[in-house]
Amino acid sequence: MFRKHWSLLAEHQDCDLCPASESASHIVLRCYPASVIWVAFHMDDLACSSTDIVHFIYSVERAWINSRGVHILFATAAVTLWHARNDRVFNNNRWPPSYLKRYMSQLLQDWQHRAKRQADKDAITSWMYLMN
Ligand SMILES: [Zn+2]
Repeated sequence: MFRKHWSLLAEHQDCDLCPASESASHIVLRCYPASVIWVAFHMDDLACSSTDIVHFIYSVERAWINSRGVHILFATAAVTLWHARNDRVFNNNRWPPSYLKRYMSQLLQDWQHRAKRQADKDAITSWMYLMN
């Protein structure tokens, strides 16, 4: 993805954290902040070996019993990683792993309040525990 400086596009599409092209899959699956999150859920190998986001979600759905909850987890991780990326690109702020986890944990807590099924609430509780 190109960095937007509101009036013009950057001249390169490289990630500013590692030597890779920046793409949605890179940001959400393979870049350093993503590894902080996926390691906590023991999904780092799967994230790194997935060809793209769709492949990753499909693989996780097949591996997890509560696959509905996986969508909540993935959405929360993706929003966290996107916000971290944007804060880095637009404001030059780098989120340390502890802040990244705390941010995601807060989003999970928000989702937990909105969840209707007890199974989803319980799953989110266990994920929040992994973020601490
Ligand atoms: Zn990167």
